[in-house]
Amino acid sequence: MKIVEKTVVSLKYKLSNHKTGEQIEVTDETNPLVFLYGVGMLIPEFEQNLHGKATDETFSFAIQAANAYGEVDAQNVATIPTNIFHDENGVFDAAMFQVGAMIPMSDNEGNHLSGKILSITDENVQMDFNHPLAGTDLHFEGSILEVRAATQEELDHGHVHGAHGHQH
Ligand SMILES: [Zn+2]
Repeated sequence: MKIVEKTVVSLKYKLSNHKTGEQIEVTDETNPLVFLYGVGMLIPEFEQNLHGKATDETFSFAIQAANAYGEVDAQNVATIPTNIFHDENGVFDAAMFQVGAMIPMSDNEGNHLSGKILSITDENVQMDFNHPLAGTDLHFEGSILEVRAATQEELDHGHVHGAHGHQH
């Protein structure tokens, strides 16, 4: 079976920085990426590059940052008063708040997002809310492990069930 809309795809891949070759993430047979193809779950260009491939076929392609996690946006760097991080006793948890740490936050609409601490002073914490892979050209290589038809229930739910899928 080939990868088309409404198939469930299992694959393994190595993701690296296309410019530097630095490895970012690896999935293998024991922890494959399993997803319902064609419902917009993944980066569109990632899915497009896999279209028509069958089990055991390999792939190797690059995706520019603008088509992946976007470019780095200076507007996503925020300066936040240090005192909002104080606990109920007015104490700043210096062990948690260190330059480079990723801190879970929520915005005014209650959306959860993580910010990376760029700098800390007595008054302010500067945090970068850009996606960690913003500005990075991605390179994927790997192979297709399995392609099967999605069940009607999976199509109704919009996600994969079973091994490596949704358990519910
Ligand atoms: Zn479900």
